[in-house]
Amino acid sequence: MAQRTTINPVLPQIKPAMLRTFHARLTTWYQAHGRHSLPWRITADPYAIWISEVMLQQTQVATVLARFYHPFLETFPTIEALAAARQESVLKAWEGLGYYTRARNLHKAAQQLVAMAARVRHNRATLPNTVESLLALPGIGRNTAHAILAFGHHQPVAILEANVKRIIARIFALEKPTDAALWEGAETLLNQAAAFDYNQAMMDLGATLCTPRAPQCGQCPARGICQGKAAPESYPTPKLKKTVPTRHVTLSVLIDHRGRLHLTNRGERLLGGLWGFPQTAQETATSQSMQKGATHLGTVTHTYSHFKLVGQVELVPVKNTAKAKRCFTREEIAALPLSTLDHKVLALVEKHHRAKNHRTKM
Ligand code: SF4
Repeated sequence: MAQRTTINPVLPQIKPAMLRTFHARLTTWYQAHGRHSLPWRITADPYAIWISEVMLQQTQVATVLARFYHPFLETFPTIEALAAARQESVLKAWEGLGYYTRARNLHKAAQQLVAMAARVRHNRATLPNTVESLLALPGIGRNTAHAILAFGHHQPVAILEANVKRIIARIFALEKPTDAALWEGAETLLNQAAAFDYNQAMMDLGATLCTPRAPQCGQCPARGICQGKAAPESYPTPKLKKTVPTRHVTLSVLIDHRGRLHLTNRGERLLGGLWGFPQTAQETATSQSMQKGATHLGTVTHTYSHFKLVGQVELVPVKNTAKAKRCFTREEIAALPLSTLDHKVLALVEKHHRAKNHRTKM
């Protein structure tokens, strides 16, 4: 069971009667407008809820629903299946979701849970039901731990994902809220008698009415207690748009005499475990120099969280036999996990080959 951490309340107090009215209005609103059919709301399996929570950390509901949640659970239906998989298979199932550390951590955590179950001679690995044990697993922070407890174990704990943070900041009119203040607000507002529906309702409220721009306060079940509704977009103070630096690279597609392509296994933190085309940093956009005999295929761009990458793609016949050993057919590449950027490079290669074949036939 999670501990309530509010020791020195700093937020404006809300009268119990007003809180009760808010809970009643929120329940009515959720019954009429909630997204009740989301698959992670109708499962009782904490493992499936955990997977959905990690996918939703940095990805929109629609994307997770359309392309990732069901296929991932079909491939890895249990903690044991995930733990037994090769990391490459887990990354393949995560391909396109980005933030691949999430997939690597899920895999590691599943392996730890299986090892823990074996130590206590349990047949099946399960997700713990305390905050402390969940926080000890890789990739699980306080919000994910609370979500697993609230939705997977039906415990009366508050969650604090991005949409809920915005609602709390507005209800308590907090311009620059600290995490501690937001958690205090979340715990103050929690409807302990119906925590599951309350938490789901708060997420839906943030996704549909209390949106970042033009929130619909007139229809909001929280308007009676909301201290920020006169100027909702001021809470929290909008962050200045960051300008991210641009990195220029050359992406070399080395091709052997059989048309196979050379890929390397990426070791860096961002894309660790994925396969991709070799990259060489360039000082500026104009300093790009092509290898002798290379054909320029075009430019690819991709925006990461902290930088934008602009890559000049060149096709180079392989001469180095060591590299030739690590060349892959298209079928082999289709089975490997590649980043979105590397898929863009691959698309340029295929376009080049189609154009070449077309010219040959003419
Ligand atoms: S009243 Fe407006 S600002 Fe306040 S929680 Fe509702 S939608 Fe958000």
